[in-house]
Amino acid sequence: MKHDTLKLLAELGVTMPDTADSHDLIARTPITGEAIGPVATATHQQADAAVARSVEAFRAWRKLPAPQRGELVRLLGEELRASKAALGQLVSIEAGKILQEGLGEVQEMIDICDFAVGLSRQLYGLTIQSERAEHRMMETWHPLGPTLIISAFNFPVAVWSWNAALALVCGNSIVWKPSEKTPLTALATQAIFERAAKRFGRAPEGLSVVLQGGRELGEQLVNDARFPLVSATGSTRMGRAVGEACAKRFARSLLELGGNNAAIIAPSADLKIVERAATFSAVGTAGQRCTTLRRLLVHASVYDQLVPRLKQIYGKLPIGSPVADGTLVGPLIDKQAYEAMQRALDDARAQGGTVTGGERVLTELGANAYYVQPAIVEMPAQTPVVCHETFAPILYVMKYSGDVTEAIALNNAVNHGLSSAIFTNDMREAERFVSDEGSDCGIANVNIGTSGAEIGGAFGGEKDTGGGRESGSDAWKTYMRRATNTFNYGSSLPLAQGIRFEI
Ligand code: NAD
Repeated sequence: MKHDTLKLLAELGVTMPDTADSHDLIARTPITGEAIGPVATATHQQADAAVARSVEAFRAWRKLPAPQRGELVRLLGEELRASKAALGQLVSIEAGKILQEGLGEVQEMIDICDFAVGLSRQLYGLTIQSERAEHRMMETWHPLGPTLIISAFNFPVAVWSWNAALALVCGNSIVWKPSEKTPLTALATQAIFERAAKRFGRAPEGLSVVLQGGRELGEQLVNDARFPLVSATGSTRMGRAVGEACAKRFARSLLELGGNNAAIIAPSADLKIVERAATFSAVGTAGQRCTTLRRLLVHASVYDQLVPRLKQIYGKLPIGSPVADGTLVGPLIDKQAYEAMQRALDDARAQGGTVTGGERVLTELGANAYYVQPAIVEMPAQTPVVCHETFAPILYVMKYSGDVTEAIALNNAVNHGLSSAIFTNDMREAERFVSDEGSDCGIANVNIGTSGAEIGGAFGGEKDTGGGRESGSDAWKTYMRRATNTFNYGSSLPLAQGIRFEI
């Protein structure tokens, strides 16, 4: 595995050092749990100097017209297309998601580049009616400044691209602190960016920087006043710390945090669709997506039809190396994730749950590789363990017997507010679910699972999910500053609100 990974890295333009420094991160693959090699971390001073370069790069980059900035992102998309197979495989090796999902993640990067290229010819403001004669009002959008991107292990490259593609066309420089659990995919992505920048020829030095390290490095950067925007993806615990630090210095924070996502299975649901949608959403990336389906709220009238069928499907899930053909469930990221899963299952049992699955399997693949049988846990109610995000393939199943308003109340009765879904063929139920009184999540789907969003929509969620929106729609506005401009083309000076002020 190590040898193949080093070859893949070389193909992507990354050479690994032969010897390790004591401060290095050790990159690992969860497939076997083995170490791949050392990755140098940034010292305090190196990070400080890199931010200074990023400020200089911003000052030069913002002068280029946005459509020209879009040309760099177009080339980045081309380079990503050329490296899709290799980068997708590396994502699979380092994050443990199945190859299809690794490739899908790179496709998302390509898609957001395409989106951002179009956007680079827009970034438009409004013209607004003035109350004063011979006046015109308009708003303009300007580059904001160096943008800090902090990302989680489970989407090691796509999250960077959602931020990077938009930030770059908006005229910002970018500094990326990837997860300490996935440093290799970050190095490979930076090498791909550098190829695009070289072809482009006019990217200032330091336009995109990667700084490797853990939480302390993240804290140093978040507290650095040279970043007017911090986009942070990860746990709610991390987001709370980042949000507070940014608020203290009045910086903007774009927070993409945890999720505790539910699907409502109404009496009229097409159960064939539910089977595939629920299984993909619950076990995809081994239950380690922010949008993973964690709660299934099943109407009593279809419960006995659906739940045994899901257990049957779970019993046959191909679990194994994520790069092997046919595997649908890869490993958990590490031992910590496995232990958190076991603790949650113990708590669920103590809170009245009946657990099917959840045990460790395939120990022969490595003492430090943690493969699990995804679990279905039938719960009597949404007890405390159900209301907590455990980043593992645990699907809590609960029964409801009232109407859709009862199910919506259950959907909304947790602290997170990222993704949600209803499966119904009843138009009134579907409309109520997406109405003002419906799901309180940033994503509310009908007859589609909770995971697997497209890049065209704004992505993010409410409450403990952090409130940020990135990717499509008008998420670009977070990466720019807005100015309102009022022009007087007359020869008098009427004051707003009719105020009289004669001198
Ligand atoms: P994590 O919070 O442990 O780490 C995420 C990143 O934050 C890492 O780069 C880490 O080094 C950094 N970090 C941690 N503490 C920090 C601090 N105080 N200041 C600055 N940086 C800090 O998360 P993880 O285990 O890598 O990822 C799993 C979590 O991420 C889950 O909760 C999942 O739901 C969430 N997630 C959310 C989204 C989304 O878009 N909403 C996407 C992916 C993952």
